[in-house]
Amino acid sequence: MVKLLYSLFLSAQIICTLASTPSSYNAYLDQRPTGDAMELAGTVNAALVSMCRPNCPALAMFRNSTAANVMLVTDAGRTKILYKPEFFTSVYESYGDGGILAILAHEVGHAIDAVAPPHWMKSGWAPELRADAWAGCAFAKMNLSGSALKSSLMTLSKYPSPTHPNWATRLPVLRAGYTQCGGDGASFDKASF
Ligand SMILES: [Zn+2]
Repeated sequence: MVKLLYSLFLSAQIICTLASTPSSYNAYLDQRPTGDAMELAGTVNAALVSMCRPNCPALAMFRNSTAANVMLVTDAGRTKILYKPEFFTSVYESYGDGGILAILAHEVGHAIDAVAPPHWMKSGWAPELRADAWAGCAFAKMNLSGSALKSSLMTLSKYPSPTHPNWATRLPVLRAGYTQCGGDGASFDKASF
């Protein structure tokens, strides 16, 4: 049993994790996401689907108590978003829907970037910055209110991945995604910090 779990762990390749602590992710403990989480994922999906059609990646989402906050992994050929239930509860309590939407938009951004990078995406941006640019794009397409946009940005700044550059580097990239996808730069600047 121990050996089998070990090989399963090795087969899951982590693309992103928005946590400073490593996970002991166990795919056996994947559970169906809550309805609330699915609804927010649907909102992000609807915002970005026009950017990747017809090559949009298949993405599954699971709730898993062994995930490190939130993770994007490829496992046995499937790409999965995994979230730790306590993490989503805590983000929701501090930042509301905007916080969860931001986390999901960043993760979906990683997945879409692999199949449909837009012309404005800078090749010099590392994968974490590119996922941020996608998140900014999703914020514009979801037409977030000023306060939701601020909550989204605060959530992303609070939960970087271990390889993220500092916030001063990330903010202009988020802004570029936002304005390239039809968002108003002045609204973005009002919500940024
Ligand atoms: Zn990431």
